[in-house]
Amino acid sequence: MEEPVKPLMVANWKMYNNVSDSIKLATNLKNSLGDYPDVEVVLAPPFTSIYSVSIAMSETGIKVGAQNCFWGEEGPYTGEVSAPFLKDAGCEYVIIGHSERRIHFAETDESVNKKIHCVLNADLTPILCVGETAHERNEKKTTAVIEKQIRRGLQDVGMNDLQKFVVAYEPVWAIGSGNRATVEQIAEAHEHIRFLLARMYDAPTANNIRILYGGSVKSSNVREVMKVHHVDGALVGSASLDYEEFSKIIRFGDFDA
Ligand code: PEP
Repeated sequence: MEEPVKPLMVANWKMYNNVSDSIKLATNLKNSLGDYPDVEVVLAPPFTSIYSVSIAMSETGIKVGAQNCFWGEEGPYTGEVSAPFLKDAGCEYVIIGHSERRIHFAETDESVNKKIHCVLNADLTPILCVGETAHERNEKKTTAVIEKQIRRGLQDVGMNDLQKFVVAYEPVWAIGSGNRATVEQIAEAHEHIRFLLARMYDAPTANNIRILYGGSVKSSNVREVMKVHHVDGALVGSASLDYEEFSKIIRFGDFDA
């Protein structure tokens, strides 16, 4: 029988927290956690804080991720950071294709695909972000958009590479808006993603991939989100900047459990 996948809670700190604030936030989170469910916790600070946070969290079980990387390993690419460098700095996960990068930095499915190959080659776990805009949802294109982003993002990625892989469904209109997707919308998208991955690879491979929901997750709604079929965790932005709030989210909203 297949082992159930361990839930994954990822904090995307975006471009907040310098080095000392990052260490403080991570340390406060660790101290406030105490006992918590069997959940994997990943903090994704800005690049400049990755090494310090990974040292500060080294004995804790809390892991560190990056919010982006470049698609080359090294070379004359001024200003870029590669996946092997992120691994060297203590990262285990890399968020790829976040909608803020697609919107503000012209990230395409093609660059996302190149980055995913580099992350996998560095033996790190990619978190591939997909999701529709409000306009695309209104046009009833949600499943088509998600399918295109996943098929193109995973081009030439083999089944063996998917032993380590995470998908985050993040409707663009739900990010930072306080306007979380409904349980029905989340269920529909996650089921579509799971079945698509099973068609592209096979069912055991698809079932092994954690599918996170992201978009205005808070301690007051995380329990409802986590109960949805095919939801294996959450990618949390704003609410992860408050350690007490993120600590409650890691406990599925039940601080006293
Ligand atoms: C995100 O940045 O990935 C995100 C989900 O943000 P928020 O939780 O603030 O909506």
